[in-house]
Amino acid sequence: MSNFIDVILPIPLERLFTYAVTPEEAAHLLPGMRVAVPFGKSKIYTALVARVHTQPPTAYTAKEIHEILDDDVLVTATQMRHWQWIADYYMATLGEVMRSALPGAFLLESETFVVLNKDTTVQEGLLEDDEFLVFEALQHQPILKVREIAGILDKKNALPTLQRLLDKDVIRLKEEVYEQYKPKLVHYVRLAPHYADDAHLEPLLHSLSRAPKQSQAVLALFQLMGTGNKPIPLSDLEQAAHCTRAVVKSLVEKGILETYQLRHDRVSHEQQGGTQAAKVLNEVQQNALEDIRSHFAENKVSLLKGITSSGKTEVYVQLIQTVLDQGKQVLYLLPEIALTTQLIARLQRYFGDRIAVYHSKYNVQERVEVWNNVLAREEKAQLVIGARSSLLLPFADLGLIIVDEEHEASFKQFDPAPRYHARDAAIVLGKLHRANVLLGSATPSLESYHNAQKGKYGYTEINRRYANVPLPEMELVDIKEAHRKKRMKGHFSERLLQEMTDTLELGDQVILFQNRRGYAPILECTSCGNAPQCPNCDVSLTYHQYKKQLRCHYCGHHTAIPQGCHACGSVDLDTKGFGTEQIEQEVRALFPEAKVGRMDLDTTRGKHGYEKIITAFERRELDILVGTQMLTKGLDFRNVNLVGVMNADALLNFPDYRTHERSFQLLTQVAGRAGRTERRGRVIIQTYNPYHQILKQVSTGDYDTMYKEQLYQRRQYNYPPLVRIVKITFKHKNYHVLNEAADWFAGALRQHFGDRVLGPEYPPVARIRNQYLKHLLVKMDGRASVAGTKQYIAKVGKSFAAIAAYRSVRVIHNVDHI
Ligand code: ADP
Ligand code: ZN
Ligand code: ZN
Repeated sequence: MSNFIDVILPIPLERLFTYAVTPEEAAHLLPGMRVAVPFGKSKIYTALVARVHTQPPTAYTAKEIHEILDDDVLVTATQMRHWQWIADYYMATLGEVMRSALPGAFLLESETFVVLNKDTTVQEGLLEDDEFLVFEALQHQPILKVREIAGILDKKNALPTLQRLLDKDVIRLKEEVYEQYKPKLVHYVRLAPHYADDAHLEPLLHSLSRAPKQSQAVLALFQLMGTGNKPIPLSDLEQAAHCTRAVVKSLVEKGILETYQLRHDRVSHEQQGGTQAAKVLNEVQQNALEDIRSHFAENKVSLLKGITSSGKTEVYVQLIQTVLDQGKQVLYLLPEIALTTQLIARLQRYFGDRIAVYHSKYNVQERVEVWNNVLAREEKAQLVIGARSSLLLPFADLGLIIVDEEHEASFKQFDPAPRYHARDAAIVLGKLHRANVLLGSATPSLESYHNAQKGKYGYTEINRRYANVPLPEMELVDIKEAHRKKRMKGHFSERLLQEMTDTLELGDQVILFQNRRGYAPILECTSCGNAPQCPNCDVSLTYHQYKKQLRCHYCGHHTAIPQGCHACGSVDLDTKGFGTEQIEQEVRALFPEAKVGRMDLDTTRGKHGYEKIITAFERRELDILVGTQMLTKGLDFRNVNLVGVMNADALLNFPDYRTHERSFQLLTQVAGRAGRTERRGRVIIQTYNPYHQILKQVSTGDYDTMYKEQLYQRRQYNYPPLVRIVKITFKHKNYHVLNEAADWFAGALRQHFGDRVLGPEYPPVARIRNQYLKHLLVKMDGRASVAGTKQYIAKVGKSFAAIAAYRSVRVIHNVDHI
């Protein structure tokens, strides 16, 4: 009897692939372990065992594996079931899911590039012979492919050696080189343990009476410490005590103070005195908590709708605490962009080093670490806070999943496959683990709210801000009128300017929201109307004044700003529309005294760009912050008293059935940044259309009416949440081939689904990176099972792929596209 394994390869193959193994290997191997296997003519891949069995494949002769890579299971059985669901539901392959799930270091293959890790000193004595050979080779050639290393080692397969070198931190994979994570170290200061007590203050100050600067510093430190035990940055102390580093140094030398460093994003791992007790919930929060628990008792997903700053996070903290006390794991999912130091530090104060953070900004090594800790049920990864992909970690015993900001579109993976929705995949994961799932938002998605209305989800609300801080006052300003009466200064109405002046005078901060980056989206010739287009995409180039460039926001193409019109030669060029850059410039001119910052994709590139701006704003080094929707995500600024929305119409006029829902969510979230402490904040929304129903609903906080109206529309026109949608995108560089192919596909689907097929249609930007695009929508409603519909689409896809003329057309399936 021969032995075989079926493996998942990290490539889009529809089926598992079978390899031959020896009886000894078969006895060792379990599903979820990795093996190195040959594939195609000369490739080597890391594959994952899915099944160990004794049936030879019928269609081909099984090759032998090269090597077993694991002693223990790396991927759990529950995880594989979850992956299978994702693959089936989102029309992806298991290989694609695996590639999304496993950190790159687990998936070495012959084409992977390897480099030395420059950040560690290698102890050559600790390297085995083969490891040393690789180490040496990399001294001579800074970058090598895995297959080249196999040649150097004179081995078929270098993966085990490289895996060991990765574990020893000697090498890195090349993709990471540009991404290398340089933790920012912040210096902190504290009293030496002996003095850290009020009772010691008097005698200490007394002993320093001859060193007034030093005693001042000690006093300032006591004040900064207050009652909490949050770490105090050295710079804060220097500022508060108006002292120099030399003063602190002498205090350290005397043994009175201690300085220490913490990684900026892992603050409080070593916090003094450990963790802080959870806050006592007020009555409304307590009721919400009990409600949620009752939903959990009925095994229901629970939706918590709580207005901004109502204290949802504190409710989560209570739920998390309970589950951690039971020794189970918790997953706290957030949109990538909301995963800020602010929130992480806040949770760390409660849960200390039981927290592991997992997101794409972390390098492979750190992701591997979290993976292993979660798999081993280590206490230091009992609470995982992460973005979308943390859902794919090897949880052993998950008790609770929280999906915060559940309405966020960024929970849906766009590219590459699997195009999964993290919220929905989290609910499935919860079922597999019998874990409770809580969805939280101030502005739930229509999907979730609809499920709550139908009774499928439990539902609870918090309609008051914590401590009864009033919601900001909203005002709609008609800029059509203002323009007509010539009462605008640039893009600012008199009302907005007045409020800005008042707010700044009071020493408070201002946020200005404009959901478009760059200076202006269009540069137009005033003589002939020609506007420079991207050569690769069907879209005008955006004018970036600071860089003196025209840039394409779809493909990155850029050129210098032209001197004159390419079409008619005229030098009269003018901009149309406006972006954050222009607003920033106008603000600087209007408020020359104010310190102005900008937060958009252009200013937050680089690893910590985003954090830097947030921190500067938090520390009040900036008075006014201009930004795109990045501003909206879960930030808690204490001194923002005014939020200005420069132009709401740009949001509302986007051609998509979700536009109104999105605008409501976005505007409510931006508004929620204002007045989070005692004083009532203000929000000014500038618009050409103050009677727009969505703006009315935003300004009165009327989610229910928004929901009813939108749901009515969706029912009328058959859109989610009343039906499910698969969006099929066709891409090809040739316009005619694309059209024909999309028509063929649409025709084949129509035969079966009739009017449930919409399109094919060009999207608003119909060509990107020289590829033409067309979309088809297939609606799945009660008349057909969702699984059946997808099966049929897949069948049509197979026939389509068999047509030679269409073979080079890319077909992308996006299930539940949003
Ligand atoms: P949300 O998550 O709903 O936006 P937060 O949980 O951030 O709201 O709460 C808003 C503010 O109120 C935070 O500064 C938080 O610390 C404070 N807060 C909320 N609940 C309590 C409580 N029970 N006791 C003390 N402070 C609280
Ligand atoms: Zn012209
Ligand atoms: Zn382009």
